[in-house]
Amino acid sequence: NYMKTSEIRESYLSFFESKGHLRMKSFSLVPKNDKSLLLINAGMAPLKPYFTGVEEPPRRRVTTCQKCIRTGDIENVGKTSRHGTFFEMLGNFSFGDYFKNEVIPWAWEYITEVLKLPKDKLFVTIYLDDDEAYDIWTSKTDIKPSQIFRLGKEDNFWEHGSGPCGPCTEIHYNKAGVKVNNVDEFVIASDNDEIIEFWNLVFTQFDGDGEGNYERLANPNIDTGMGLERMATIMQNVDNIFEIDIVRNILDGICKIVGKEYGKNDKDDVSLRIITDHVKSVSMMLCDGIQPSNEGRGYVLRRLLRRAARHGRVLGMKDEFLYKVVDLVVESYKEGYPELVEKADYIRKMITIEEKKFNETIDTGMDILKDYMDKAVSEGKTILDGKDAFKLYDTYGFPLELTEEIVEEKGLKVDMEQFNKAMQEQRERARGAREKTSYMGADEVPMNKVDASLSTVFDGYDKTELTSIV
Ligand code: ATP
Ligand code: MG
Ligand code: MG
Ligand code: MG
Repeated sequence: NYMKTSEIRESYLSFFESKGHLRMKSFSLVPKNDKSLLLINAGMAPLKPYFTGVEEPPRRRVTTCQKCIRTGDIENVGKTSRHGTFFEMLGNFSFGDYFKNEVIPWAWEYITEVLKLPKDKLFVTIYLDDDEAYDIWTSKTDIKPSQIFRLGKEDNFWEHGSGPCGPCTEIHYNKAGVKVNNVDEFVIASDNDEIIEFWNLVFTQFDGDGEGNYERLANPNIDTGMGLERMATIMQNVDNIFEIDIVRNILDGICKIVGKEYGKNDKDDVSLRIITDHVKSVSMMLCDGIQPSNEGRGYVLRRLLRRAARHGRVLGMKDEFLYKVVDLVVESYKEGYPELVEKADYIRKMITIEEKKFNETIDTGMDILKDYMDKAVSEGKTILDGKDAFKLYDTYGFPLELTEEIVEEKGLKVDMEQFNKAMQEQRERARGAREKTSYMGADEVPMNKVDASLSTVFDGYDKTELTSIV
C-alpha cells in the first residue's frame, strides 16, 4: 500500500475534514506575536492564540499541514533515520471541542483503515497514570493491551513552564519488526531507531502553575502532530526520511552535482543527507522572508547554510553549488508550497551570495583551525582557546557551533567563557564605533530572543555583518 508523500498529506487533511475540521494553510515559519519562539516548531505553535482564548478560532476543529523547523535536532540530522531540521507536521486540533474519547478512535481509524498499517506492528505509549487514555485505547479500539506502554513525564507529558499542559499518547511503528515483550525492550528498540514514533496526541487538560500543581481545565483541548516524512518512510517502506519520494529526488540531484553515489560510504551518506536537509530548511526560511544575519532566525539560517557548505567541502566540492539545489527543492515542494516557484530566483540569489561570502574564507579558516587543533592536541589539551574560536567566528565566518562540531571530532571542547568574553568585548568596541560614526544603522533593533542553545552567546547581539568593523 505504497502512498506518495503528497497523497498522505491530502488523505490526512481530508480525513479530518470528514470529521468536521476546517482545513487551514500552513502558517509561516516566522511566529507572529510570540516572543517565546524563534521558529515555528510544531503544528500547534501558530495556533496558540486559539488555545489560550486570546483569539476566536474560525472553527473549533481545525486541521493543518504545518512547515516546522527544529534546530534542536540538528545533531541528529543525517545520523538517525527520523530527524530533519525541516519537516512537515500534520495535525488536528480541538479548541475546547472534542477530547480523548473522539481523538483516540479517530487516530486508530485513520492509521488502520485509511493507511491500513498492520495492527500488530503498532505500539501506543501513554502517560503513567492516564488510566482514562488506557481505558479508551482498550475499549474503543482493538489494539492489544500488550502493545500499550506507560512512560513518564519526559516522554508522555507535554508542559512548557506554566499554563495549559497535559498528558499525551504517542503512536509508534515497529519498522524493524523486532520482538518486544516489555516496556524496557520497547525503549531500547526506539533508541535504536528500530521502532519509530510518528504521532503525538496531546491532551491539554490541566492548567499548571509550573511547580507541579495542576487544575483540571473546564474546556480541555486536543493538539496532535504527525510527522509527514516519518509516515511516508513507513508507507514507502524505506530506511529513513531522506529516501522518501520527494526528498530522495533532492538527494539524488545532489549526488549528481557533487559526483557521489548514495549508499556507497556511510560518512559520505551522512554529509549528503545533511546537505539535503539544510538546503531544504534554508530555502523554506528564505521563502518565508528570513534573511541571513548574525542574530536570531537569520543566524539559524546562516548556520544551516554554512554547515551545508562545509559538508560540501567534506565531499570534495570546491566551488559554490548549494544554489543549484534550490531547483530540486522547488520541484519537490511546489505542490504543497506554490509560493516557492515565485521566489525561486530570489532564494537562489540569496544562497549564492551567502555561499560566496563563506567560500572566500572557509579554506583559510579551516587551515587555521587545523593549526589550532594540532597545537592543542600536541600540548595535551582538551580545550580549544575561546579567543581562537571567536577569531574564526568573527574573521572567517565560522558559526560557533560549526567550530565546536569540527573540534569535537578531535576530542576538543571550546572554552565558552573565553569565547563569550571575546564576543562581549567585540560588542562594546562595535558600539563605541557606532556611536562615533553612526556607521551601523541606528534603527537596527536587536530583534530576538534566541533559542536556548544560542542564548548564551547571541542574545541581543546586534551586529549585522560578519566582518569586524573595528
Ligand atoms: P523524537 O522523540 O523522535 O525526537 P519528538 O517526540 O521530539 O520526536 P514531537 O515533539 O512529539 O516529536 O512531535 C510530533 C511528531 O512530529 C513526532 O511524532 C514526529 O512524527 C514528528 N517530528 C518531530 N521531530 C521531527 C524531526 N526533527 N523531523 C521529522 N519529524 C519530526
Ligand atoms: Mg525530538
Ligand atoms: Mg519522542
Ligand atoms: Mg513525541
